[in-house]
Amino acid sequence: MSEIDVGERLRRLPAVDQVLQAPALREAAPRFPHALVVEAARHRLEELRQRLLAGEEVAARELELEAIAEDSRHYLEAAFEYHLQPVINATGVVLHTNLGRAPLSQAAREAVERVAAGYSNLEMDLTTGQRGSRYAHVVAWLSRLTGAEASLVVNNNAAAVLLALTALARGREVIVSRGELVEIGGSFRVPEVMAQSGATLVEVGTTNKTYVRDYEKAITDQTALLLKVHPSNFRVQGFTEEASLPELVELGRAYHLPVMVDLGSGLMLPLVQDRHRGEPLIPEVIGQRPDLVTFSGDKLLGGPQAGIILGRKEVVGQLAQHPLTRALRIDKLTLAALEATLREYLDPRRAALTIPTLRMLNASEAELEGRARKLRELIQKAGGQPLPELRLSVVPVSSRAGGGSLPVTDFPSFAVAVSLGPAGDPQKLAQALSAHRPPVIGRIQDQALLLDVRTLADHELPEVARAVTQVWLSGEGS
Ligand SMILES: *Cc1c(COP(=O)(O)O)cnc(C)c1O
Repeated sequence: MSEIDVGERLRRLPAVDQVLQAPALREAAPRFPHALVVEAARHRLEELRQRLLAGEEVAARELELEAIAEDSRHYLEAAFEYHLQPVINATGVVLHTNLGRAPLSQAAREAVERVAAGYSNLEMDLTTGQRGSRYAHVVAWLSRLTGAEASLVVNNNAAAVLLALTALARGREVIVSRGELVEIGGSFRVPEVMAQSGATLVEVGTTNKTYVRDYEKAITDQTALLLKVHPSNFRVQGFTEEASLPELVELGRAYHLPVMVDLGSGLMLPLVQDRHRGEPLIPEVIGQRPDLVTFSGDKLLGGPQAGIILGRKEVVGQLAQHPLTRALRIDKLTLAALEATLREYLDPRRAALTIPTLRMLNASEAELEGRARKLRELIQKAGGQPLPELRLSVVPVSSRAGGGSLPVTDFPSFAVAVSLGPAGDPQKLAQALSAHRPPVIGRIQDQALLLDVRTLADHELPEVARAVTQVWLSGEGS
């Protein structure tokens, strides 16, 4: 194409106002904020201009006013969509960090709504009318449930660990086993958090074996803390040895050193059939009397994102006084959800049903198989016509707890395997389903897209069925 052609085509591009007046955009405009409509027209025109200037092939049809308006409308619709939106999790990974970890219980959702709508006693003591503490709202629940003397909550567990190390050990030494220098989720690494806190890491033992005497030998007058980290997302198998928490607590008492446990996942109740094997229960850990215990609110506890700190009054008090606490402060909506979640645990049998994370982790194979059969049936019906190329089968699979929890526990589950015959590409089907509204996220295994029903609620099944058939009928998934 000659340069004259490009110049001519650039000159012929319509003005923004003309695009705004073209029917395709004018008719849609009242449903959108005006600024966004203008942005859409400008964006589309600029895109064409850049392509022409770069000498790219641009079809004449793309430069017609109606086509430009139409493309602007697509941009507009996509731009006005909520960026953060609910998705349907058919991966079977219960605490999927990319999908927001723990879904909240109904009580927690209602608590958020109640507090969000107006004012609250966030930092007011209603019996005296004086200033109160935002942490007071969960202190009594946490003590009742765990036996802990004192507690504090911050933004997440990474913040809890950073705060504890900063407040207790800045400029001094913290002793940790080499077998516990973990990385969780790619962004939380014990040695890096340690460096950030200004404490010096003193590694003891080896990857597979660490004895209490290794800690004892490393104690100097610079030692500030003995730290134990729960290796949430892996297990060392074979010949292993670790200092038990009671041993470390005894050592700490002898040398007047605080002992802290980063528990990570934070499981409050046992799961059915011993599925929690290898995961210590919070009340048991507290019963072993460490000075400080931290864990996440949105892992196995099944609540909102939060970092929960439990421990001895004096040590928790030291953390509460530290200026960093203000920067890591938990917000009122999170507190509302956390209090409601904790409140549910007072009735453990009910909690196992009402807290979605526990419900999903405890689900029986019979229940899951029934749900998978139901889903397959709904997909077949939703098509309204035979869909010969679409193969659906109910298959046994293994789901995961996720979120770096219970890494070796097998959660036997069932999925609907969707495949498109020998030539089908499950990747395309997966992409089309995640672009669907609501998005449905599955996982690919053996040339099929698996929809694992452990993480699906019954009310989501018809939506999943509609999504699969719509994607299939539109041809986007093949
Ligand atoms: C998950 C985890 C963390 C980080 O917790 P967040 O709540 O994600 O900040 C820290 N330590 C351990 C051992 C963990 O498992």
